[in-house]
Amino acid sequence: MNTATRELRDLDKAHLWHPFTAMRDWCAPGHDPLVIEHGEGAWLVDTEGNRYLDGNSSIWTNIHGHNHPVINAAVRAQLEKIAHCSALGFTNEPAIRLAAALTALFPPDTLTRVFYTDDGSTAVECACKMALQYFQLTGRPERRRFAAFDRAYHGDTAGAASLGGIATFHDRFRRDGFEVARLGGLDDLLALPESEAKTLAALAIEPLVQGAAGMRLWPPGMLRELRDWCDRRGVLLIFDEVLTGFGRTGKLFACRHEGVWPDFLALAKGLSGGYLPLAATLTTEEVFSAFLGAPEEGKTFYYGHSYCGNPLGCAAALASLSLFGPDPTGFGLGPNPVGLKNALESRFGDHPKVAAIRQIGLIAAIDLVRDRATGEAFPAADGVGARVCLAARKHGLLTRPILDTLVFLPPLCVTAEEIELGVEALARAVAEVL
Ligand SMILES: *Cc1c(COP(=O)(O)O)cnc(C)c1O
Repeated sequence: MNTATRELRDLDKAHLWHPFTAMRDWCAPGHDPLVIEHGEGAWLVDTEGNRYLDGNSSIWTNIHGHNHPVINAAVRAQLEKIAHCSALGFTNEPAIRLAAALTALFPPDTLTRVFYTDDGSTAVECACKMALQYFQLTGRPERRRFAAFDRAYHGDTAGAASLGGIATFHDRFRRDGFEVARLGGLDDLLALPESEAKTLAALAIEPLVQGAAGMRLWPPGMLRELRDWCDRRGVLLIFDEVLTGFGRTGKLFACRHEGVWPDFLALAKGLSGGYLPLAATLTTEEVFSAFLGAPEEGKTFYYGHSYCGNPLGCAAALASLSLFGPDPTGFGLGPNPVGLKNALESRFGDHPKVAAIRQIGLIAAIDLVRDRATGEAFPAADGVGARVCLAARKHGLLTRPILDTLVFLPPLCVTAEEIELGVEALARAVAEVL
């Protein structure tokens, strides 16, 4: 290990507190965290010069690859002008052009307004607050609850977290957020008493796939059913496309698979191509117009963040969007999803330690179990998923598991060979650890 790496690791352990990380083990003498120095396309390079395929797109954010010449040039050009200016009382060209470009991705009279936020959590938080205030402003203040699904993940700020349904992340703060009707699936929604539906402001879902739940797929047709249910009861619909947006599932947005448009769309992770923390909450003219009035009427949406509409982030997002071609709405992933499916089936299809494989677009998940026949799980304390991912590093792959579910979610620029390499690295790592 070179001395620069050693020094950085020591300083990290002395001063940093990492997200979603058990810090005692992180700081332990035997743990040598990789210090990532640069990236090229789908690859990451550490301070020791080791190259790794970015098998989770830097926590699901990267779209067109790292160090992309077009996005780099756009950020540089903007940097020569100004890095940040406030969206409170002023406006700026990249933020304006991006809002116009985003709304143009949806049919007319659907999502026409863009509110900028900073990350997935605040994009969802913003949608929730807009929904609550919308019903206050339209004379229905009793609609102040939300409906959300078991094992949902919508972020970590207090409001967004209250929609979440993953016990490890969310139970501790259960009493501190919005009031939520928890649903196991569509059946629970259909069984919800009308008296309860009348108290709902909005229903939130991660369309097509619940990411943090372990890439769980919803049944086809689900979004259409939710839209119909909400329309009949006057409940607003929130699609959290923080993970699924920008091509990840095979179409530009997950909602395009069913041609269903929500009242609020939360975008973050891939919005800037995975370059900068930028997010957006899109909504309808119907919602927006309820907030119009003289200042003294108290209709204004008093919400925002210092970096809303950040010009650098918006410039990166515009460049990233341009890489989807002249008509991004026609975007498709080409043959890569089929290559990924075949690679997974050939290595894990009848593997004795694999209970299930799930895949949609460039999202793949592999559930490891002690015994495929009985479905018996490994003891949590064994940390099997984490050990497999650690072993995969030796074969050139970086990724992060969700408990004992292995995740492979490469940047969209990945080649057929890189997909083979990534899945092969997982297969070898599974063989070594199990
Ligand atoms: C990651 C994620 C979030 C939270 O986004 P942050 O940028 O981490 O705040 C919200 N919803 C979904 C579906 C996500 O995958």
